[in-house]
Amino acid sequence: MLKRISRFFSKDAHQHNVGEHRVVPSDQHSLSPKMISRDARKVVEVLQENGYEAYVVGGSVRDLLLGLKPKDFDVATNAKPGEIKPLFRRSRIIGRRFQIVHVQFGRELIEVTTFRSNESKGTDKKGGSRRQQADSGVLTRDNVFGSISDDASRRDLTINALYYDPSDNSIHDFADGLEDIDDRIIRIMGDPATRFREDPVRLLRVARFAAKLGFSIDPVTEKPMRKLAANLEHVSPPRLFDETLKLFMSGQGLATFWLLYEYGLFDYIAPQVSAMMKDRNSLTGKLIEQAFTNTDLRIRSNKRVTPAFIYAALLWPSVQQLASRYRDRGNSPAYALSKAAGEVIAKQIPITAIPKRFTMPMREIWDLQLLLPRRGGHRAKRLVEHPRFRAAYDFVLLREQAGEELSGLGDWWTAYQNADEEKQHQMSKALGEPGRNRKRRKPRKPRVD
Ligand code: ATP
Ligand code: MG
Repeated sequence: MLKRISRFFSKDAHQHNVGEHRVVPSDQHSLSPKMISRDARKVVEVLQENGYEAYVVGGSVRDLLLGLKPKDFDVATNAKPGEIKPLFRRSRIIGRRFQIVHVQFGRELIEVTTFRSNESKGTDKKGGSRRQQADSGVLTRDNVFGSISDDASRRDLTINALYYDPSDNSIHDFADGLEDIDDRIIRIMGDPATRFREDPVRLLRVARFAAKLGFSIDPVTEKPMRKLAANLEHVSPPRLFDETLKLFMSGQGLATFWLLYEYGLFDYIAPQVSAMMKDRNSLTGKLIEQAFTNTDLRIRSNKRVTPAFIYAALLWPSVQQLASRYRDRGNSPAYALSKAAGEVIAKQIPITAIPKRFTMPMREIWDLQLLLPRRGGHRAKRLVEHPRFRAAYDFVLLREQAGEELSGLGDWWTAYQNADEEKQHQMSKALGEPGRNRKRRKPRKPRVD
């Protein structure tokens, strides 16, 4: 697939900086222009016709070299956002911290970025620095433009710093990225500790690509990861939430989870879950393992997955533990569960800002765990119609697969859904009518503490 390319210069033993600009011609790699989407090729062509440099860059080049289908195509150019926009009819400049241009073609969106520099130079119109760094080393603004080699040095991984020019079918490699693709190595650009401090999300990206591509992490890159895991606290909760979706829904969620756990990164994504994992024999590990196994399978067979289900599974052991504490204090199961759910979610949100459109279904899935066992009489019929029934039923199956003893509840619901109306009626009748003859008791005042 990839033709091996000889090494032109030796590697720095400690860090991987941008070295010689190596242009790899057509006959020394496996790419061809027709592998690039027509729209991305068009964007490159228009920019080049207007006198700018332009390349296809990043994940798509990496994936094509590995024989994988790219998720999308990104273009990098020396044209500034204000120069790019007028060249394309359906385009707009987005972002502030990091301005990029979105060019829309039908349903395909091409992201066009201007070459960026790592230098702390330049001021904007208001006299503020275009590149700002907080005390922790985190970059807060990043709009200093630069050359292609500046741009390469500020990318995250060597394998993501490859620039492809469809006009002459050449690859521009600044950091031996082709060789790392060949050797299946994840290596960060530059000094690892500095780059991780600058943007701690890079810690997650290292784990994500290692798991997704099945690559090993270079020891120099790996060394500071555990120590710098706490820097994830500097990532904004909405961004961290978005990143967790990429981690969990990559189709390699299980492998990614174990890498995150191994490097202590998971402690800063979901500390409540990490705390429950400390007990190796607990159900938590099995539940999470099963949840990711199922999610990965669904993704690979093009089935729908929702972040609500994944987060519901991750946080379930914490909810159960807290709910049991509230029950022990004399609260009803429903009240205990609802209170525990609220508290567990409230603790998670300042870390990964799960939007309400996901926390609502999470709570419904959990609430239904109490209702699905109570299925006698007319209840089953009504429960099946609940909009969250399917997810709650899948959740029951997941709990059972992970080893929870639920007295055949999953099988019962599977059989019920497969049965005709007459059979369903018999199944419900056989269970009796729960609570029918029970006297209504005055609700007990809940004891909270
Ligand atoms: P995916 O297949 O997940 O889209 P990708 O490599 O294309 O992988 P993107 O998040 O789309 O990832 O980013 C596009 C490119 O931008 C990357 O290939 C990388 O060169 C650069 N990049 C993205 N995030 C960072 C970051 N945090 N720090 C430095 N460079 C980054
Ligand atoms: Mg991408």
